[in-house]
Amino acid sequence: MNNTIMQYFEWYLPDDGKHWQRVKEDAAHLSEIGITKLWLPPSFKSTGTNDVGYGPYDLYDLGEFDQKGNVRTKYGTKDEYLEAINTLKEHGIMPIADIVLNHKAQGDEKETFEVMKMDPENRQQPISDKYEIEGYTHFYFPGRQGRYSDFEWHWYHFSGLDYDARNDETGVYLIQGEGKGWADNEEVDSEKGNFDYLMFNDIDYRHPEVVEETKRWVKWFIETTGIEGFRLDAIKHIDRSFIQELIAQIHAELGEKFYVFGEYWNADYETKVDYLEDIDFDFDLFDVKLHMNFYEAALQNENYDLTHILDQTLLEDQAWNAVTFVDNHDTQAGQSLESEVGAWFKPLAYGLILLLRNGLPTVFYGDYYGTQGENGHEGHQEIIDKLLRLRRDYAYGEETRYFDHPNCIGWVRYGDDDRPSGLAALISNGTEEGFKDMSLGELNAGKTFVDYLGYYEGEVTLDEQGNGRFHVHEKSISVWVDKETLAE
Ligand code: CA
Repeated sequence: MNNTIMQYFEWYLPDDGKHWQRVKEDAAHLSEIGITKLWLPPSFKSTGTNDVGYGPYDLYDLGEFDQKGNVRTKYGTKDEYLEAINTLKEHGIMPIADIVLNHKAQGDEKETFEVMKMDPENRQQPISDKYEIEGYTHFYFPGRQGRYSDFEWHWYHFSGLDYDARNDETGVYLIQGEGKGWADNEEVDSEKGNFDYLMFNDIDYRHPEVVEETKRWVKWFIETTGIEGFRLDAIKHIDRSFIQELIAQIHAELGEKFYVFGEYWNADYETKVDYLEDIDFDFDLFDVKLHMNFYEAALQNENYDLTHILDQTLLEDQAWNAVTFVDNHDTQAGQSLESEVGAWFKPLAYGLILLLRNGLPTVFYGDYYGTQGENGHEGHQEIIDKLLRLRRDYAYGEETRYFDHPNCIGWVRYGDDDRPSGLAALISNGTEEGFKDMSLGELNAGKTFVDYLGYYEGEVTLDEQGNGRFHVHEKSISVWVDKETLAE
């Protein structure tokens, strides 16, 4: 069966501690619709229960200890997390954890050390001399009291921070001392001079104690939770040689079946290919360029040339490493990388990622169930369900593309031995309906095809070579399948 990921959270989920329960209750349904991997939000204790999980405080606290004002996290307790994971596995869905290794937030105690203030737009450029500050860099986790690990974090385990408690000032502070500094330039993204620093206390992966403790934590986390995959957050801000070492360790201990993918938020194709080469392709990356193409296409309406919709995407050029998506928790309205694909184009975008041959598609919770918050919108569950069924039952075998008109593109999948029907898909961004002559091969000669999505009424009877003229309405999608397969 085709693999499909679902990102099972959006930024504005309620802070009700009930999300792990929602996962558990939804597992049977998710399995039914063809979801094979579920990407769960970060599960560790963060700055508060209203934290989505990207401000982690204690990676060993999965909602078990009274820290940061509560035992639970935004999503529930440790026991509920473990139950959700087990339930997913019982339904044949691979649970994937979101892992935030770049930084730690809100240390327990202040420490005194030296820094240089750096230009936020060029992290190589000091804008002060060396001077002493106080920062919340001592983490000793009083609520956990050494359970699972007695490691305490100090200022020298970090490379930089954003808050000087002595002078009550914020900035980008580079910690000074022997062996201190940002990650080497070639180890992190080059934006802002050196993009090691993202937020909070930036973890220094050149420090051997940090490397050792992080590897120990990864082992503990996998053994404790039974998780079967990782989504690594913010990897362009972390030494890539460390990421490579970590993935190699995981695959050595657990085998290649432990699935790892990551976010490298840079639409530049060369940068990503370089990254994949550096870490030996052991790893899947999000196809950010494809998302940006969808975003542009939605904005430009009929002026966008659909024949370029896959230009410079990972899906097109590095298919085996592309995790495709339409939107996510960062691109949704109101978030840091806001670039939400316009509602009219979402069904078309999902049609592309779910029914084209290449890439591992991700369905976003917010697109499926809707998003909350002031920019919230309704979900597209009905159409995504139909596209998921097409992916589960029809989108198999070889592919031929007909990307030959700026306002109407199409492709066919020929099916395989088990699922021979195949499909013929068309999308249009034009102001009037489109059509395309496409062939499903002689095996389908004489068969009658209908639009599975029900948008375009009528039937298409294929000739003796399996050719047919397929239609699609303006700004729409249609996916034609063998009518006989619908009755089964
Ligand atoms: Ca970093």
